Amino acid sequence: MMKIKTNEHYSNLKQSYLFSEIAKRVQAYKTAHPDADVIRLGIGDVTLPLPQTVVEAMHRAVDEMGVQETFRGYAPDFGYDFLRQAIAGHYASFGVTVSPEEIFISDGAKSDVGNFVDILGDNTVLIPDPVYPVYLDSNLMSGRTVRFLTGNEENGFLPMPDGLEEMPYVIYLCSPNNPTGALYSLDQLRQWVSFANRTGSLIIYDAAYEAFISGTEPHSVYAVAEARTCAVEICSFSKTAGFTGTRCAWTVVPPELKTVDGVSLQALWGRRQATKFNWVPYIVQRGAEAALSEEGMHECMEHISYYMENAALLADLFRKKGITFFGGVSSPYIWLKCPGGMKSWEFFDYLLNRVQIVGTPGEGFGAAGEGYFRLTSFGSRESTVEAVRRLDALL
Ligand code: PLP
Repeated sequence: MMKIKTNEHYSNLKQSYLFSEIAKRVQAYKTAHPDADVIRLGIGDVTLPLPQTVVEAMHRAVDEMGVQETFRGYAPDFGYDFLRQAIAGHYASFGVTVSPEEIFISDGAKSDVGNFVDILGDNTVLIPDPVYPVYLDSNLMSGRTVRFLTGNEENGFLPMPDGLEEMPYVIYLCSPNNPTGALYSLDQLRQWVSFANRTGSLIIYDAAYEAFISGTEPHSVYAVAEARTCAVEICSFSKTAGFTGTRCAWTVVPPELKTVDGVSLQALWGRRQATKFNWVPYIVQRGAEAALSEEGMHECMEHISYYMENAALLADLFRKKGITFFGGVSSPYIWLKCPGGMKSWEFFDYLLNRVQIVGTPGEGFGAAGEGYFRLTSFGSRESTVEAVRRLDALL
C-alpha cells in the first residue's frame, strides 16, 4: 500500500466526466440492442475530413522531414513564426490587431484552458453556467474557489457583470457558447472588459467557435481594444478546420497583462509552456498555416456551411414542434428545452431508448443546464436527416 499523498482536490470533481457517462450509457444500450442504428449527435466532434489544402500542405511537410536539408527537430517554444504570422493575419481579416509575438501555439484549446490555471494563484473564479465543463474541472483540480455566472432564458444565456461585487476575479467567457450557442455582442463585451479593467480582473476568453459566427458579433475579445489589459484569448483549429484529431490551437497573451506587482502573464505563460509543453509537430503547424490561407479558409467555410445546414434542419423541426431552443445560428449547437418538463438525463434516456439518438444532457454543462439538452450539427447530412425524421415522429 502506498503512503504518498495525492491531490485531494480531485475528490471535488464529479465522479464521471460527462462524455464518459454518455459513452457508458450508449455502450450499455448497444450491448442490449446489438442491431440498433444509433445516431450520435452528442460529442462535439467534427465528421468531415480535413480540407484538401491542409492535407496537401501536410504531405509537403512530411516530404521535407525526410530530406536532410529541410528536416526539423524540436520546434520553437511558442510555435513556428509562419503559423504565428498566419494567425495574426487571420485576426486582421476581421479587423483585430494581434501581433505574432503574443500568440502561443499549442495542441489544443482544452490543454490551454486546463493549463492556464497553472500560472494563476488562488483567485475567485467566475464561470458561466452552463458552459464547456473543462473550465470548472480544471479549477476544481487546483482547489480554486469557483462562483457561477448563471445563464438562463431571461439573459439569453449571456450572463453579464451587473450586480457582481467589485473585486478581482478570473472570469471565463465562451462566445459563441458551448453548449447554448449564445454569443456576446460588441456592447456586451465592452461591459465585461470595462468591469474587468475596473476591478483588476482577468478574462479568459474562449473563441473556439468564432469561425461559426455569421452575424456582426465580434470574433475576438480584442475587438474591444481595452481587452489587451485584461484578457487572454484561446482559440483552436479543431472546429474551424476539422483538427480535432490533428491537434492545433493557440492562446493570445498580450504583453500589457501585468499584475500590480509587475508580473507579466506573458512571461509566466511562456515559462510554463517552455518547461512543460512539447510543441506541435512541424507537419501539423504547416497544415494549420494552410487552413488559414485564402483557399484553406474557403474550404473551411464550406465545411462550416455544411454543418450549419444540418443545424438549420434541426432548428426547423424544433420550430415546427413549438419546442423552445437556442443556438443553431453562429454555432454548431442546438440547445433545446426538454419537452414535457423532462430533466436532462431523463430526456437523454428517452431519446436513446425510443429513437436511438444520442445527445448531451444540459445538466452536464452545469446546474443551470438542467432541463435542457444539446444536439450537435457535426453529424453527416444523412444521419441528421434521419435524426430529424425520427424526432418528428416522436415529439
Ligand atoms: N473550448 C470549447 C468551448 C470547446 O467546446 C472545445 C471542444 O469541444 C474546446 C475548447 C477544446 O478544443 P480543442 O479541440 O482545441 O482542445
